[in-house]
Amino acid sequence: MLREGRPTTPEAIANDAGGIETFSGNRGLRIHEPLIFENGSYNRTGVDMEDAGAFETSLGGMDREESDINLPGYSEPETMRHFTRLSRKNYAIDMGFYPLGSCTMKHNPRLNEKMARVPGLSDVHPLQPLSTVQGSLKVMDELSHWLKTLTGMPAVALSPKAGAHGELCGVMAIRAAHEAKGDPRKYILVPESAHGTNPATAALCGYKVKAIPANDEGRVDLEALKAELDETVAGIMLTNPNTCGLFERDIIEIAEAVHAIGAYFYCDGANFNAIVGRVRPGDLGIDCMHINLHKTFSTPHGGGGPGSGPVVFSDRLADYVPVPDLVMLDDNSLSLKEHVEDGDANFGRMTAFHGQMGMYLRALSYMMSHGSDGLRQVAEDAVLSANYLQASLEDVMTRAFDGPCMHECLFSDKFLKDTGVETLDFAKAMIDEGYHPMTMYFPLVVHGAMLIEPTETESKHELDNFINSMRGLASAAKAGELDRFKGAPYYAPLRRLDETAAARNPVLKWQAAEAAE
Ligand SMILES: *Cc1c(COP(=O)(O)O)cnc(C)c1O
Repeated sequence: MLREGRPTTPEAIANDAGGIETFSGNRGLRIHEPLIFENGSYNRTGVDMEDAGAFETSLGGMDREESDINLPGYSEPETMRHFTRLSRKNYAIDMGFYPLGSCTMKHNPRLNEKMARVPGLSDVHPLQPLSTVQGSLKVMDELSHWLKTLTGMPAVALSPKAGAHGELCGVMAIRAAHEAKGDPRKYILVPESAHGTNPATAALCGYKVKAIPANDEGRVDLEALKAELDETVAGIMLTNPNTCGLFERDIIEIAEAVHAIGAYFYCDGANFNAIVGRVRPGDLGIDCMHINLHKTFSTPHGGGGPGSGPVVFSDRLADYVPVPDLVMLDDNSLSLKEHVEDGDANFGRMTAFHGQMGMYLRALSYMMSHGSDGLRQVAEDAVLSANYLQASLEDVMTRAFDGPCMHECLFSDKFLKDTGVETLDFAKAMIDEGYHPMTMYFPLVVHGAMLIEPTETESKHELDNFINSMRGLASAAKAGELDRFKGAPYYAPLRRLDETAAARNPVLKWQAAEAAE
């Protein structure tokens, strides 16, 4: 809530400075930072190199001395400041609440970072002899054990490097399993509410996608799904809890129907945060599922670090785990099976090396510090937080579906009808409130969707502040305060960008040569 006596409207805040313009153009800590290409100094450098003498460069004439490529230059402190200033204009989970639905932007406990920096684990090279990295292999083995236990699945491929990469791994395994029986089949069924990576994965693996409609509860329409099932279908890709934040209640019946026609059940496990420790996907009849370590098991993401998307497999697909695959030798030492041998079912490898070691360490640290009871509480608290938000906002915003939600709550733009404010404007006004906007216009099955995922790591105090802002914005929209929305954001480092032009006509590099003219 704004404190008494503080200016409240954007205009009032601007006037509050008494119209004072600074000589530098900066405003206190709001320091203007030009693009690196705009600083115009091409001869500055952070290091003074000795003349390299006579040698052939392998840059084909692209080095600065010989061509007018005009790479921008900064001194060492200028370089530091440039990137530090830019980083301070960025929003981050360490700065504030980040309710981006379907992304599980949860706090990454610093213990994870400490573990990922233990020198014996961080300073290893993927080509080191295996006898010298038994500790790293042990970490991978422990992590595999936790993932298999939590999902109730017998096999895991650790190497995929993101959720989408895990999907690719899973559907390649499904294809390989069908090919082994002589027919890869033709279709993958994907619900309308699916994340865009699902149909993209199916298409990349050579399948045609058939979309399954949602029913008016926001769940997969079981009858429509069954009507599509025949022996041309290779498998289905289903997210559970789904992208409307709802648990797919018919999941066991769906699995049985899919198996009855000899197809496989891929589960998009990006929302595992909502059920970890409470439901084992293996018990639901799922054949393979990726787990976003960077969502469910913390670890920084969204600009803060790489992803990691291990895939767990049921007995039906366990033979198709790609290399490298962790194996225990007779002397109890760990090794990696690196090559596909004659008679192997698997389709090869997904990555050059072994995957994201740093993510494995962070995820394992997160799991072990929570313990099995703690992980169960993660799911419970995530669901509680989302339902608290849903219940606190449902009288001023429009819920997309009835009933309790899982780890995220979904609103449509119906409450903005006739206000002139659209979901996009609402999101931009949230930036002025100091929040990263929720996920918007996704899932596609809900008009003007606003998908809010608080995660378990936000306190009630933080949620209450957010609720206060959201309620304020909803009332302001209904009261016709259009300026607040249409001009937003007022307080971001940049005002509203032309997103359509940026997508259609991207300018990826400032043309130094052009500007010099
Ligand atoms: C995040 C997400 C993905 C993709 O995961 P990445 O790690 O970003 O590749 C796929 N499906 C759903 C439902 C997701 O939320």
